[in-house]
Amino acid sequence: MKVDLLGNARKAAEIAGKLRVDLYSDTNSKPTAGMRKAMAEAECGNEQALEDPTTNRLQERVAELLGMEAAVFLPSGTMCNEIAYRVWARQGDAIVMDKTGHALLFETGGPAALSGLMITTIDSPEGIFSGDDVRAAVANPGRHSPRPKVVNIENTSNLGGGKIWPIETIRDVADTAHALDMYAHMDGARLMNAVVESNATASDFTQPVDSVWIDFSKGLGCPIGGVLAGPADFIDEAFRIKHQFGGALRQSGMVTAACNYALDHHVARLHDDHENARKLHAGLRDIDGVTVQNDACETNLVFFDVGGTGINARDVAAQLLERGIRIGAQTDTRMRAVTHIDVSTDDIDFTLAALREIFKA
Ligand SMILES: *Cc1c(COP(=O)(O)O)cnc(C)c1O
Repeated sequence: MKVDLLGNARKAAEIAGKLRVDLYSDTNSKPTAGMRKAMAEAECGNEQALEDPTTNRLQERVAELLGMEAAVFLPSGTMCNEIAYRVWARQGDAIVMDKTGHALLFETGGPAALSGLMITTIDSPEGIFSGDDVRAAVANPGRHSPRPKVVNIENTSNLGGGKIWPIETIRDVADTAHALDMYAHMDGARLMNAVVESNATASDFTQPVDSVWIDFSKGLGCPIGGVLAGPADFIDEAFRIKHQFGGALRQSGMVTAACNYALDHHVARLHDDHENARKLHAGLRDIDGVTVQNDACETNLVFFDVGGTGINARDVAAQLLERGIRIGAQTDTRMRAVTHIDVSTDDIDFTLAALREIFKA
């Protein structure tokens, strides 16, 4: 099947121009005025020569925040995962992750294509598994089996509904990984969402793992970037692979100024996104025929099923679009809404009112 990419992109751009509420993804947030000002005024140098002071500062801050020795700024979260896997594992090795893992489903086969790695999956409710699950997944490794080398902890778990990994579960999985001669890697795309919803610090969550990254282009509201952190020798090697993957940058201070700004201004406010998501979650629960995926809404992701309404999820999405609201349909019945800095409490009321109308008709 040939896809009309350009045509689709034009249509999407037209839709985006008319949107009032965009709940499609937290990657759709726009840089704020304050963030743009910080970017315009950024001190810059050649990042590749380690001469960009703004990027150097960001890397130091994130290493400190995550309790790691060092960190490297990368253009995307995907590159953070792919570089971490490359550094920790060799061709023919396996990464253990939940069956809904981002790197399995949404990174165009990167682990296989870039590093010759296999993925061994665990089928866990809400994307959170235990050390015993890891042991079962890699049972009886021998001379003839792929060598399990990395266990991937996605916190919060995206398709699991934005669930927060309990710290004792992270420790259990990481300890098990270490006992099995594996590394524990945290895909922390939304780790800061987990942090603001708990009494723990970011480094409490990351202390058990060997490497971790946070995304700046999701809830933190930046246009670009992720920062990968870990031991100094791991980050040295990550810098090399960054260059090899074509991700080494020049005056990246222009974009990392946004990340520094986000650390100062956009972390605590993630709680507002969670309150808005909970409001949406509670409202959806009250609509006949709609079922929410998770009993509790912990962070900013709300998955729900409209099968019981008799209306196809893609039709629901289309009818919402006519009202200026975008929510993604994942299947004929399943939808995902994501709150972020550009979604207000009024927007949630507006969305719930629209959904009630659509399902009443
Ligand atoms: C978005 C996301 C990524 C990839 O990050 P990008 O910045 O979009 O490349 C990886 N893991 C999870 C869980 C994500 O949600």
